[in-house]
Amino acid sequence: MSIIYKNVALIGLGLIASSIARALREKGLATRITGHAPSQKTRDAVVELGLCDAVFDTSAEAVKNADLVVLCVPVGVMGPVAAEIAPHLNAGATVTDVGSVKKAVIEAVGPHIPKSVHFIPSHPLAGTEHSGPRAGFSSLFDNRWFLMTPTADCDRTAVNRLRNLWEAIGANVEEMDAAHHDLVLAVTSHAPHLIAYTMVGVADELRRVTNSEVINYSAAGFRDFTRIAASDPTMWRDVFLNNKEATLEILGRFSEELFDLQRAIRKGDGQQLFDYFTHTRAIRRGIIEAGQDTDAPNFGRAPGKKGE
Ligand code: NAP
Repeated sequence: MSIIYKNVALIGLGLIASSIARALREKGLATRITGHAPSQKTRDAVVELGLCDAVFDTSAEAVKNADLVVLCVPVGVMGPVAAEIAPHLNAGATVTDVGSVKKAVIEAVGPHIPKSVHFIPSHPLAGTEHSGPRAGFSSLFDNRWFLMTPTADCDRTAVNRLRNLWEAIGANVEEMDAAHHDLVLAVTSHAPHLIAYTMVGVADELRRVTNSEVINYSAAGFRDFTRIAASDPTMWRDVFLNNKEATLEILGRFSEELFDLQRAIRKGDGQQLFDYFTHTRAIRRGIIEAGQDTDAPNFGRAPGKKGE
């Protein structure tokens, strides 16, 4: 493939940034990749892994001469990081971010970005429960969605160039309004994470099952919750604090449905439960048909463990 941006700067060098770096390198999409992370440990790991051509102690140095700057930091620090880099951005450069929330990030970052620079927010619907530069891999974005939420005043040529980059690293790209993005993600990602965190917390409250039972006898359902609930605490704290309205709206609806099902169980209304589960099973099939998950039983895990 050919170079889309000559100089790419990655601010924050964790799972997402390191996956972008690996994909850019593997597909030859950038001439030079620079990076910055605050901790020496992360910077050392990035140097050891050879993910960047140069790693800097400050974000200001990392963005110098960059055509594209990708903010890969937790949502809560997007604003301060934008303020730090703003005076050092090249005229004509593009700044994007990969934050899981879009409206709050646009409000926090937008005011700092000079008029001569394009700010085009993005969000890859791709990730794992692992963090840091060692957790990344180049195929993370293959056939996953990259949602872009450009505002009405974004330059279309700049938007299309960024879209080309995300497509070149393997993603499918869709554009949508930031508020709509936040509502969709509250349903598909944010509320489910909160429910998983809560379910694991509930199990932990039941001291009798926690010691070895919760680990030894964890069946597929609970184990999947624990995987999600192992996600990075900083990232998820920031997601909930910055997508408050949409998450609360979805949790309200969730509670209503839960009460409904609770009542069906209490009343012994098997038909209601059966109809509900038939409907949700069809949604799972739709996700598999869209290529967004595997059809393998138990997500392709090795069979034969007791309790599955
Ligand atoms: P991560 O692996 O925890 O990496 C976060 C990086 O941000 C670390 O390198 C950290 O540096 C750096 N950082 C923290 N504060 C900073 C600051 N003030 N200035 C500069 N760098 C700073 O996180 P991630 O999973 O890559 O997530 C990054 C972003 O992607 C988040 O906004 C998240 O919402 C979004 N996202 C995540 C996923 C996912 O599943 N993980 C999916 C889609 C989008 P140190 O290592 O030095 O502390």
